[in-house]
Amino acid sequence: MSVASSSFRQFLGAGAELLFPASCHFCGQHLSFESQISLCVECQQKLSPSACNRCERCSAVVGPNLETLNGCVHCRKDVYSFQSVTSLGIYDGLLKSAVLQGKYGVNPALLTSLTDLLHASGHERFTKTSANLIVPIPHHWTDRLVKVSQASTNVANRLSRLLNVPIDRHILQKRVRTAKQQSLNPTARRQNLKSAFRVSNGIDLSGLKILLVDDVLTTGTTCQRATRLLLQSGVDEVRVAVLARGIGA
Ligand SMILES: [Zn+2]
Ligand SMILES: [Zn+2]
Repeated sequence: MSVASSSFRQFLGAGAELLFPASCHFCGQHLSFESQISLCVECQQKLSPSACNRCERCSAVVGPNLETLNGCVHCRKDVYSFQSVTSLGIYDGLLKSAVLQGKYGVNPALLTSLTDLLHASGHERFTKTSANLIVPIPHHWTDRLVKVSQASTNVANRLSRLLNVPIDRHILQKRVRTAKQQSLNPTARRQNLKSAFRVSNGIDLSGLKILLVDDVLTTGTTCQRATRLLLQSGVDEVRVAVLARGIGA
């Protein structure tokens, strides 16, 4: 169900239940009318298991009761300038399948539902850290011409509405088209993104606490490049929100 039809249902009120029975965007199961997220309880639990302990720093799933303020086995070697990563879970299995379906147009409404679930599961964290600006990882303008997925922008737009925090799609820009990060090894990833981003000239960024948004964080190279640039340009703090955390790719 699209966002538009969801709003239309709300407008129609209880009668809409008969006209448009709501269903889970992932498995198609019938949903109760009160559900705020268009995913059934089973899919919510499978896509983002609430019982998992996550690394504070990189959002990887770690063993219970492990202290992760200084990172975990998955991120200790990485130099990250962002403060934390919030995600639904590991980029694997059902979550990977859901992100890909949402990202590549097979089931675009799923991207909205996954963002709603990210907002619900990370609500306490988002509230506590209180970003005052949301910035998506940018795409090169030519990506629009060849219909490259704009997932980071779509997720950021939705989070902006849910958190009631403004979004700025122009502060951070991509200067050049780059090879897909997934196709490269870690060294080539760093090289690929060298000088890929720039920050708009003449904007005062002091005092900004930015929530940087992407669809998936794997090595963290993309978010790290963007974060360093934002901090060098005067931003106070950067935290990251992604739908999923890729491990070992
Ligand atoms: Zn479901
Ligand atoms: Zn970690």
